[in-house]
This record gives sequence, structure tokens and C-alpha cells, in this order.
Amino acid sequence: MTSVTIVTGGGRGIGAATARRLAADGHDLVIGYRTDHAAAESVAADVRAAGRRAVTVAADTCDPEQVRRIFDAADRLGPLTGLVNNAGVTSPIGPFTDLRAEDLREVVDVNLVGYVLCAQQAARRMTAGGAIVNVSSAAATLGSPGEYIHYAAAKAATDTLTVGLAKELAPRGIRVNAVAPGIIRTDIHARSGVPDRPDTAAGRIPLGRAGEPDEVAGAIAHLLGPDASYTTGAVLRVAGGL
Ligand code: NAP
Repeated sequence: MTSVTIVTGGGRGIGAATARRLAADGHDLVIGYRTDHAAAESVAADVRAAGRRAVTVAADTCDPEQVRRIFDAADRLGPLTGLVNNAGVTSPIGPFTDLRAEDLREVVDVNLVGYVLCAQQAARRMTAGGAIVNVSSAAATLGSPGEYIHYAAAKAATDTLTVGLAKELAPRGIRVNAVAPGIIRTDIHARSGVPDRPDTAAGRIPLGRAGEPDEVAGAIAHLLGPDASYTTGAVLRVAGGL
């Protein structure tokens, strides 16, 4: 049977690596993104070069109508079998007392509301079973003091969403798991105001270096795939020991 998988935030970073990896594993893909059309098209071209089908959809995952467009695109490829809830944002690193309300709202909207909206659409469509992987963060258990506690709290909500959904959807053959990356080399750190964070943080990571997007993509591919057929409700830490 064809695997049809949606990767939100599939144009860059962890999502892009995941889309490429899943194409190699035989998935047809819907690649969601918000603004960077060229990046998403470049990933889609790589998926097609690997012999799989790919469509890109510009859609803000915080908006239910736009989310529906991503899933409508998947319907045109075939029955949906997988969702990687990955589109996420941080906000400028700094003390809790400096947090701006608009940054708080965006972080909660994208990292939590967006994940819920996408998981809901997936659960409605996966009538023959399927798998969802939520991209959480090691921040969920570390708390990120002095950096972005609100982001850590939103990611902790992702973990709870994973546990609850796994139980609710198990009778329908839908597995729900999460990965919790540590510090991974992507553009997300520039948005936090510390583009060199993967290098400056290396000394406090037990494995002595930041992770690469491909190393997270491998964990996501495992949780989506048949080797994880008895795994649901798990949060797999991919954080170099953090
Ligand atoms: P990234 O390189 O900044 O890429 C983020 C992707 O998400 C982009 O494709 C972006 O689209 C998309 N996106 C952002 N907001 C969106 C929205 N509202 N609607 C739709 N798409 C949206 O980020 P990343 O580092 O790969 O992070 C991916 C996930 O891993 C996030 O959930 C993040 O919280 C989590 N994570 C990352 C790290 C890390 O160190 N990198 C660690 C732990 C967890 P555009 O390209 O169009 O902007």
C-alpha cells in the first residue's frame, strides 16, 4: 500500500530532512510550509528525484481553513497514512520577565494549537489506521530557564497531547509518538537571536556537539514505520544526552 505522509514545516530544517528521508523509505509526501516557497519546492524536487510523489502547500498551521488545504492535498495523493507535526517556532531568547505577549501567543499558537488542528484532521482521515509523530523538544523536560520557558511549556503540552492521543486513537490502529530533539543545527536559532547556538552550546551537550537534522529524521522515520508497530505514546529523546 502507498504511504501518504504530511510533513508540516517540511521546507527547512528537521522537516526538510524528514521529507527527504521518508521519500527514500517509500512515502509520497505533502510538504507544508508558511512562507519559504523556494525551500519547499527544492525539497519536493528531491523527493521526486527519489521516485516518489510530492506536493507543496503554503498554509499557516494555526489557521483551521489553511490546515484543511494541506489535508485536501494529501487526499488527492491517496488515503492518508502518516502525519509529522513539525512546523514550530521559538522566540527571542531572554529572561521570562522580558517575554512579549505577541511572542507568547505565536509560540503557543504554532507549537500547540497548530499541532492539535493537524492531528485532528489526520485522525478524522486515518480510517484504516496510521501513524502520527509530533516533534516536541528536550526543552519540555529541561524548562529552558533564562531562554524561553513559554516554548518549553508549549512543547511539554505536545508530550501530553502525544500520550492522550495515543490512548484515544489506539483502538482505531493509529499510533501517536513524539521525538524530543535537543539542539539541532537549523535556522530556528537565528530566530531566537543566537544563530551560532549549535556551536556555543556544544560544551554542555554530553555527546559534545549539536545534532544534525538527519539524526532527528531517522528517529521520526523509525516511529512512523513498521519497526515501531507496537510503539505508541512514546517520547523519544534525540538530544545527545541532554
Ligand atoms: P526551522 O528550520 O526554523 O524550520 C521551521 C519550519 O516550520 C519551516 O518550514 C517553516 O516554514 C515552518 N513553519 C513555521 N511556522 C509555521 C506556521 N505557522 N505554519 C506553517 N509552517 C510553519 O525549524 P527546525 O529547527 O527544523 O524545527 C522543527 C521543529 O523541531 C519545531 O517544532 C521545533 O520546535 C523543533 N525543535 C527544534 C530544535 C532545534 O534545535 N532545531 C530542537 C528541539 C525541537 P517557512 O520555511 O515557510 O518559514
